[in-house]
Amino acid sequence: MSDFSSPDWFTEQCDNTGSAFSLRIEHKVVEKQSPFQKVEIYKTTDFGYLMVIDGCTMVSSRENFLYHEMMSHPALFTHPNPKNVVIIGGGDCGTLREVLKHSSVESVHQIDIDKLVTEMALEYFPELCDKNDDPRAHILFADGIKYMQDALPESIDVIIVDSTDPIGPGEGLFNHAFYTSCLKALRSDGILVQQSESPILHQKLMKEMRDAMTDVGFSAVQTIPFPQPIYPSGYWSCTLAKKNGEFGVFRKQDAKAFEQLVEYYSAETHQAAMKLPRFLAKVL
Ligand code: SAM
Repeated sequence: MSDFSSPDWFTEQCDNTGSAFSLRIEHKVVEKQSPFQKVEIYKTTDFGYLMVIDGCTMVSSRENFLYHEMMSHPALFTHPNPKNVVIIGGGDCGTLREVLKHSSVESVHQIDIDKLVTEMALEYFPELCDKNDDPRAHILFADGIKYMQDALPESIDVIIVDSTDPIGPGEGLFNHAFYTSCLKALRSDGILVQQSESPILHQKLMKEMRDAMTDVGFSAVQTIPFPQPIYPSGYWSCTLAKKNGEFGVFRKQDAKAFEQLVEYYSAETHQAAMKLPRFLAKVL
């Protein structure tokens, strides 16, 4: 019987949800404290490297494609012609790599508050950073809240908020003021997408996010659940918000032609994910 409190295991313990998740580790590789957060890297026995920020699992080598693909492609294939994309957070560069797979994209600005996250990703997750030198990629280190406040009106097609949880530096990325900045910066067919936590554990937060997005003037919201083995409950989500119009239509033929470039996303996955599970439809 394993002892999950032993040094052979990394455990993320979530007291507020009465749950925990463990990965067996070979050893802790490094731990550094930035001005914003504590970043740790572990070498696991079965999931490759693991990045942990302030005690919360962020990325593992083995299954990060699930999250990064679903944070990017449903929004990008819903937009008719995404050219200018902004990623807020996303310092591990996995979302950036997915966005750059889209040939329509002319520029991607990634704004993470913490340079240390990207330095760690370059060293331990080089496969996520293999597009960082693409001339379309602009990697900046700044506060995403201020960046969106200062963004030119009607200048962005898709904003992807790949942030930590709504505590610490990520807190201000989940409120009316931030969504108002995003709405202003999006072009008329623009889309905002944000990671929206666990459909099992965080329904209240998810509903508050959706309500705040519609309160500030987004015309439609769509939550998309997907599997995410290393996050609390193993089940995660993102929420899309459209500046104008409704959800329903996406560039299905383009998504089909793209399938050779992805591991989880497909036109069928996209279509199925748009249909909310019944338990979630009832509470949102
Ligand atoms: N996939 C993870 C999850 O859902 O828990 C999140 C990935 S991690 C790359 C999130 C990033 O958000 C971190 O690198 C962190 O530095 C960044 N972040 C947090 N608050 C931020 C802010 N206000 N502006 C920009 N980046 C921020």
